[in-house]
Amino acid sequence: MNAVQLPRSIVDELIRLVQASPQEEICGLMSRDRHGFWKCYPVPNRAADRKHCFTLDAKTQIDAMRTMRHHGEELAAIYHSHPNSPPFPSPADIAQHEYPGVLYLIISLSARGKPTLRGFHIHEQTVEEIAIDPEEAASR
Ligand SMILES: [Zn+2]
Repeated sequence: MNAVQLPRSIVDELIRLVQASPQEEICGLMSRDRHGFWKCYPVPNRAADRKHCFTLDAKTQIDAMRTMRHHGEELAAIYHSHPNSPPFPSPADIAQHEYPGVLYLIISLSARGKPTLRGFHIHEQTVEEIAIDPEEAASR
């Protein structure tokens, strides 16, 4: 299995965001710069059914991508939460995914509220799990 190292601080930040919204899916983007610094860009969820789906708010997404370019960062991951289902891409997640090379992170609270983080690459309809290896390196 391929693996990606995520700074522990970014994982903790994600878990805080997810736990602050235990009923509805949260979503957002993550960037990485050439020094390996990761940054989290939370994006409002505009889906009609936020308990089971997410739709990135278009304007916030465009603004975040512009900020990344401006700072020499690249889009490294798209994350969202699953309040009530396991951390695996749903059929809708797979159908909607538009960035094949970008890490797809899902944080689930379905295991009695204990956060579980899993990563994937999605190509066409194929889902490949990517191991997440939290490292202690600092993020900015
Ligand atoms: Zn999902």
